[in-house]
Amino acid sequence: MKWTKILIRYGELTTKGRNRKQFIESLRRNIKQTFSDLDTLKINAERDRMFLSANKEEEMEQLIKRLPSVFGIHSFSPVAICEPELGKIKEKAVEVMETLEYEGKSFKATVKRSDKSFPLETNELLQEIGGFVLSKFPEIHVQMKKPDIELIVEIRKEAAFIMAEVIPGPGGMPVGSNGKSLLMLSGGIDSPVAGYFMMKRGVKIDAIHFHSPPFTSERSKEKVMDLAERLSRFGSEVRLHVIPFTKIQQEIHRQVPENVSMTSTRRLMLQIADEVRDDIGAKAIVTGENLGQVASQTLESLTAINAVTSTPVLRPLITFDKLEIIDVAKKIDTYDISILPYEDCCTIFTPASPKTKPKLEKVEFYEGFTDFSEMISEAIQNREIITFPRKEEQSFEDLL
Ligand code: ATP
Ligand code: MG
Repeated sequence: MKWTKILIRYGELTTKGRNRKQFIESLRRNIKQTFSDLDTLKINAERDRMFLSANKEEEMEQLIKRLPSVFGIHSFSPVAICEPELGKIKEKAVEVMETLEYEGKSFKATVKRSDKSFPLETNELLQEIGGFVLSKFPEIHVQMKKPDIELIVEIRKEAAFIMAEVIPGPGGMPVGSNGKSLLMLSGGIDSPVAGYFMMKRGVKIDAIHFHSPPFTSERSKEKVMDLAERLSRFGSEVRLHVIPFTKIQQEIHRQVPENVSMTSTRRLMLQIADEVRDDIGAKAIVTGENLGQVASQTLESLTAINAVTSTPVLRPLITFDKLEIIDVAKKIDTYDISILPYEDCCTIFTPASPKTKPKLEKVEFYEGFTDFSEMISEAIQNREIITFPRKEEQSFEDLL
């Protein structure tokens, strides 16, 4: 049997009064981009729902397979459409049932008679259609409350719509509907997960990575590129800005006592990130920081790092347990990349015992001996920008 269309139900969008139009437009755009490989896709966005269709059966299958990863979709249903005529509707209902695993399942039919001029009343329709289906499938039994299968028939003037499955989407909001942020992306487990959560809230992401060759290898950079590519699969292109950071790190190493050099490193990273953020027109910076995980992640330390900017620094994972983060990293397929061995430019110069409560005045005092501004501009100018378009070969059905 051929599904004619796919009906998409908006998630939180429907509660967003004034902004609804913009959200729907973002979702439409993301679906278009996500499925740019499908030649015959048609999108019809209505106020309360969206219809997708494709002329080729394999393209319809692709839609069903990949829609569960598109943020902003609450749920969706494949829909069969036929002429609004009782005999045709009954036949179609049976065809729809045949696509399901029905044996031993409970069943209920629901009829929505939107076309009030249709010759049969709702109850008559229910009896006709329900009775016909039951006669064809003796393996099923009727159950009104929470049936395994609910066959929904909507009769409109132009056609009858039949559906039987409600497939959950990931929820959230369409990427791009909440502006843009710059994600500080290391090769670790946390920052890709932080980026994912921002995208799920509708925020488009550019990523920035600090790279210190020859102390960090080409492979560690490639690893971060792989992570950026993974994130681009969630509905939007991701640009990665790779910052040459060696010179600055060596200067910190020379000027700042070991026990606060980690704080200084973070402060310089944040300063650079802030300038890049400004340059690309992003509104906030995102990190994978998490309270108490390491020395640089105490409240005192975060305060000393944060003092270099008044730009909002968003830390979606701040309260997460490591195990919770790992769980998500596995689901979004970044975990296996993150655990590959790599040298992080921070850890490479990390002293044996960094201060867990660095004093801001002290850090500022030591940094004061060097004018970093030129080195910062140079690093930003020499950055490499790599763009990752969304790729589609994978399905996310089993996540989220
Ligand atoms: P992650 O798993 O994300 O590396 P982590 O728990 O290892 O986090 P840190 O290494 O202290 O913690 O890093 C804290 C945050 O600082 C990271 O989540 C990331 O946002 C940012 N960060 C660290 N190193 C880099 C880097 N080389 N380039 C860009 N951002 C970085
Ligand atoms: Mg790290």
